[in-house]
Amino acid sequence: MADHNHSEHIHDHEQELQAQAELIRLFEGITNKIPLILLANPGKNDLFSQAARKLIRSVRELTDKITFLEFDLNHKKAKKWNAEYSPTLLFDPERYSIRWLGAPMGEEGRTFVEAISMLGYGRTDLNEESKKILQKIDSRRHIKVFVSPTCPYCPQQAVNGLKAAIERPDLISLEIIDVQANPELAERYSAQSVPQVYANEKLIAVGAQQEELFMLSLEKMEQQTVFIPESDASEVETDLVIIGGGPAGLTAGIYAARSGLRAVVIEKDALGGQVANTPVVENYPGLTQVGGKALVDLMVSHALEYAKIFPGEEVMDISTDDPIEIVTTRRRFSAKAVLLATGARHRTLDVLGETRLSGHGVTYCSTCDGPLFKGKKVIMVGGGDSAVTEALHLNNIGVEVTLVHRRDQLRAQEHLIKRIMDSGISVVLNTEVKEIRGNKQVEEVELLNNVTNKTYTLNVDGIFIAVGYMPAVELAKKIGVEITPEGFIKHDSRHRTNIPGIYSAGDVEGGFKQIVTAAGQGSEAALAIFEDLMNPYWKKED
Ligand code: NAP
Repeated sequence: MADHNHSEHIHDHEQELQAQAELIRLFEGITNKIPLILLANPGKNDLFSQAARKLIRSVRELTDKITFLEFDLNHKKAKKWNAEYSPTLLFDPERYSIRWLGAPMGEEGRTFVEAISMLGYGRTDLNEESKKILQKIDSRRHIKVFVSPTCPYCPQQAVNGLKAAIERPDLISLEIIDVQANPELAERYSAQSVPQVYANEKLIAVGAQQEELFMLSLEKMEQQTVFIPESDASEVETDLVIIGGGPAGLTAGIYAARSGLRAVVIEKDALGGQVANTPVVENYPGLTQVGGKALVDLMVSHALEYAKIFPGEEVMDISTDDPIEIVTTRRRFSAKAVLLATGARHRTLDVLGETRLSGHGVTYCSTCDGPLFKGKKVIMVGGGDSAVTEALHLNNIGVEVTLVHRRDQLRAQEHLIKRIMDSGISVVLNTEVKEIRGNKQVEEVELLNNVTNKTYTLNVDGIFIAVGYMPAVELAKKIGVEITPEGFIKHDSRHRTNIPGIYSAGDVEGGFKQIVTAAGQGSEAALAIFEDLMNPYWKKED
């Protein structure tokens, strides 16, 4: 037993020496001075202050580039750094705004070593994609990364934060907050699980992220889960251009590429289409309950394995020659076939006040805007699956919602109707919205009971509108694609339109408008396109 302990000791000692040798190697080429300043109040978190001191002293033995000063938090020299918490460690505060609240202990030792190395060499080794994203940031970001010494995923987020703060010291500042040393801060930010990242007091990431996703979340100021590399190409040659990145378009991308075609998906707005704004999806096979955005992210990641995706790009024109030319706001594509999966956009009520107060209490997206109305009073207009699902969502997040529908019964699915009846949400039937009023914000709505013909006013803070969708057929019409009397794209059972080489799929075709039906149509269209390109029916007709 004694022998065993002895050999374990020797082993530990050897590992320590090896680690030290590696650090010496890592630090020996350092060129920059690295001023470190510890601000600490005796009697407050002494254990952490001592740990920080000890770590800095041991690292100073490995490189002479570190200078180390220590002040009491109340010292006048400390005042200029506005530090409140003991201990606070500042990294080169004349050049960067990087501070550590607590001590780099345990797993966080890795982050500290990275910080020294990045500051010492004056480079972050940030990849090109991340650099591009960081360059887009044009206003201040104050990052807080909550970490704990026992969390193995935390260094990744802390290092991402360091890279951002070192690359853009003009706009980005960073606090790495050890939750064990700062339990009151952890509680204030509900950082019970780490790592968590806030930017300008807004939660932008939970869990570790790859570098590009961290930078993207920082740029967009909300958690990003899919990273799509940007393309600079001005001309793209491909087999199939899919217009629309909803379930139909994304599924078509997967199927087309798996058939051997080169496929690209172009989306002008949010990927996922309407699904991205759906609070919960409960009828996608295999997923009992999934957030709409989460489902979209899964689809986008899957599609990216096969097809190139061009988000934020609008198709302006299509010339139906051979090859077909597709002109977008960013570039030009040439392709053998085009799939129109342009989906549908929300319908409006067309009542007085709707346009003027849009974005000021009038909204079409409960997932996006619902949280702004927590504790407030709103109406949800509509009687279909969307209105009912979204009213339930608002009720769940603490919004006081009344469902207003123009008929004497809802048209939503039976189980949704049961859910809303059980929820206690008041449902007002036979009622139409006549006007939306308010000075700068929605204040009241005028309602008409179409049975009694009486109008009355209801005071509300917001009005959510979910009265269905209209197919997005402008582009189709522009290029001469035939439209049905109901306004959808006319197509045959192989999703061919009247123009050879141009196909359609998803909500723009009408039908049941479900996520699975859109995905199904996308897959059918892609397979039909593959077969047609192998054996073009239009050439036979010629
Ligand atoms: P929808 O089924 O077309 O329903 C639209 C609702 O808005 C109807 O109740 C309609 O009233 C009402 N409406 C239309 N124009 C109006 C106006 N000018 N003023 C007042 N009310 C008006 O649309 P949706 O609910 O958005 O659903 C669209 C598609 O997505 C459907 O196929 C639906 O099944 C699907 N979806 C499914 C789920 C799910 O499965 N959980 C969730 C969301 C959406 P009338 O009843 O009088 O026509």
